[in-house]
Amino acid sequence: MKKVIIYIFLIVLSAFLIPILFTMQFDFINTNVANADNVELNPETQETPNEEYNYKEYGTIKLFHEKTSEVEELPIDQYLYGVVSAEMPADFEIEALMAQAIVARTYTVYKIKTNGGKHQNADICDSSSCCQAWITKEDRLNRWDEEVREEYWNRITNAVDSTKGKIITYEGEPINAFFHSNSGGSTEIPLNVWGGSGYPYLQVVETSGEDAYTQYNSEIELTVSELTAKIKAVHSEFEIDFSKEDAIQILEYTDSGRIKTIKFGNVNLSGVEVRNIFGLRSAKFSAQKIEDKIKFTVIGYGHGVGMSQTGADALAKQGNSFEDIIKHFYVGVEIENI
Ligand SMILES: [Zn+2]
Repeated sequence: MKKVIIYIFLIVLSAFLIPILFTMQFDFINTNVANADNVELNPETQETPNEEYNYKEYGTIKLFHEKTSEVEELPIDQYLYGVVSAEMPADFEIEALMAQAIVARTYTVYKIKTNGGKHQNADICDSSSCCQAWITKEDRLNRWDEEVREEYWNRITNAVDSTKGKIITYEGEPINAFFHSNSGGSTEIPLNVWGGSGYPYLQVVETSGEDAYTQYNSEIELTVSELTAKIKAVHSEFEIDFSKEDAIQILEYTDSGRIKTIKFGNVNLSGVEVRNIFGLRSAKFSAQKIEDKIKFTVIGYGHGVGMSQTGADALAKQGNSFEDIIKHFYVGVEIENI
């Protein structure tokens, strides 16, 4: 009888024990598999675009928000989603978007390296007229039509993620990667815009196909009194007599075909100054008096230095890669991982 009780006890015990041991075994195996994955990471899979890239000291960026004066710290590529999507139309060619991502990353790294305390304790600001534009993901998505929202955001993140770590260098150093909207067919050197020199990679380069974009052509008309008031605001001695044939006369062009010096009445102005005074899209313009108005016919959009964004899209449409585009606009550069 005692033996029967012992057998029953053992059967009941094993009914509990076997599943417990079985479960433990599985847990043990699973734990091991998970650990093995962590320990033996394939170095090649780490290189794939969706894996994290080790940016070392360039991993995060301190972004100064111009409107709120707040400083926000962001991972660099997350920051770049906001830059690329603010700076370039998402329906541009993917190779143009990739070029823009690399240009924006290079500009950002250059800013981190060279920041002279321009934005207090931040590296860069979100103003396109100062540093480069930036927009939150929420604002960006809201400004796109609902049916293209997901596709457009994916195009932006793909352009940034697939170029992770890549920047433009000249003699091993990150370049000052200026860019603008439309060069009007030829880019400008910094000397003619800001007076600075020492950027051998920023030359006059010609690009075909930019005239197909709405940014290429623009016009502004001013009355004689509007023109007079605007110039007088910065040159109080200004006088002009439109009965004279040479009341407005272009004196000199830059090598890129922009206005270097133009005479309005008794003052000589640079093309860049005229652009600022009248809010022209570029310094590549002509001025004509038609009846009682002055008509400015303008070609291109922006300062004209470095990469033209519409030029990048035009080049991509002609079959060029992001590397071709970058090496077209920045002379003698390399694309390297930082
Ligand atoms: Zn800034």
